[in-house]
Amino acid sequence: LEPKEEFEHSSLAVDVMRPRRVDPALAVLTQDGMTIGEVETLVESTHYSGFPVVVSQESQRLVGFVLRRDLLISIDNARKRQDGVVSASRVVFTEHSPSQPPDAPPPLRLRGIMDLSPFTVTDHTPMDITVDIFRKLGLRQCLVTHNGRLLGIITKKDILKHMAQIANRDPDSILFN
Ligand code: ADP
Repeated sequence: LEPKEEFEHSSLAVDVMRPRRVDPALAVLTQDGMTIGEVETLVESTHYSGFPVVVSQESQRLVGFVLRRDLLISIDNARKRQDGVVSASRVVFTEHSPSQPPDAPPPLRLRGIMDLSPFTVTDHTPMDITVDIFRKLGLRQCLVTHNGRLLGIITKKDILKHMAQIANRDPDSILFN
């Protein structure tokens, strides 16, 4: 038998990730399906530091991850400096712009600010492995998938809170210090 300690931290990524069942859905951007106005509404209605980018709402296939800060700066700059950029302009994270009607405003291309390989674990990855990766790679967040579909996100703070619950101690005193 394994020593008892092995079982004490047997949580899985799915136990720590957000959203919990009661939370609002994960806030994601689609790779070429949203307008600047829609992206701004989503970003401003939440306080999250970042947003996964997916192929489509239906597929939930992960394409990358963008930081809130970079999104807001890029949109702001584009609105100020790029001719024809309006709320109805399409935001595009793909390599090539999708075809649009001839009278559509020019798209805003944001592939350059996206992390193309955000760290991911599967829902059944044991948390001790995930924590180890966070520490070694200095991650701030990682995404959780199941069969290639995006399920959730785990931030460093989520881990600290989870470990504090387990240890019933001050979250700052463990793990990352
Ligand atoms: P932190 O955990 O450092 O406060 P965030 O502000 O990004 O970082 O996240 C706050 C909470 O919301 C965390 O519990 C995190 O798991 C969750 N979260 C982060 N990004 C998203 C998102 N795009 N959609 C839904 N929940 C998210």
